[in-house]
Amino acid sequence: MDKHRGDKNRQLGESFWPDLGNLLSAVRRAMGITLLNLFRKPVTVHYPEVKRVYPDRFRGVLALTYDKETAEENCIGCRLCEYICPPQVIKVEMLKAEKRNFAKTFTLELYACEFCELCVQVCPTDAIIMMKSFDLATSDRRELLLDKDRLHTIGLQFEPSWATGTGLRGMQTPPKAPAADAPADAKPAPEQVKAEVKATTLEGGAG
Ligand code: SF4
Ligand code: SF4
Repeated sequence: MDKHRGDKNRQLGESFWPDLGNLLSAVRRAMGITLLNLFRKPVTVHYPEVKRVYPDRFRGVLALTYDKETAEENCIGCRLCEYICPPQVIKVEMLKAEKRNFAKTFTLELYACEFCELCVQVCPTDAIIMMKSFDLATSDRRELLLDKDRLHTIGLQFEPSWATGTGLRGMQTPPKAPAADAPADAKPAPEQVKAEVKATTLEGGAG
């Protein structure tokens, strides 16, 4: 019994100095990094007084848009965004009208949104987009149930991100073979693509 305790004490005594050396070395390294960071430029931003410049493809809060020329709502209530949304947080009711359709109601449960951008990608009229902001923090989840008016207000309040349905689909469409008399690098203008898709959707929705 005494022999066993003696061996144990000897082992502890043998590892004390190497362990102490390792500890002091780790403390020295940690303090060195702390000292180095004292002289580095801070990377933190004093939000909300200072706001970061977000990249063009930032996926922020969602919004609905108006047509810049006619000031009409761009949404035609086609419900494509509702069908594509993986967590099913969009609900749209279509209002049929003589010349075009509208969204009678449009709700989006932002608290359950995955920010996947699929709704933006499928929208034929670029009516739903993402903004360069996440500035809707709240302690009340009910404030993140966005209705049509709120979504339009957000669209006017923040700067839009780069992505629109027309732009995203245009990126993914394989290039068409050029017509015999067209220049080799000729592409349909985005507005032309948008008008074609809008016309097709309106024909389908008006039936
Ligand atoms: S970004 Fe994705 S999850 Fe969010 S509403 Fe659009 S489709 Fe749904
Ligand atoms: S896909 Fe676009 S046009 Fe269709 S309901 Fe959604 S936001 Fe409106």
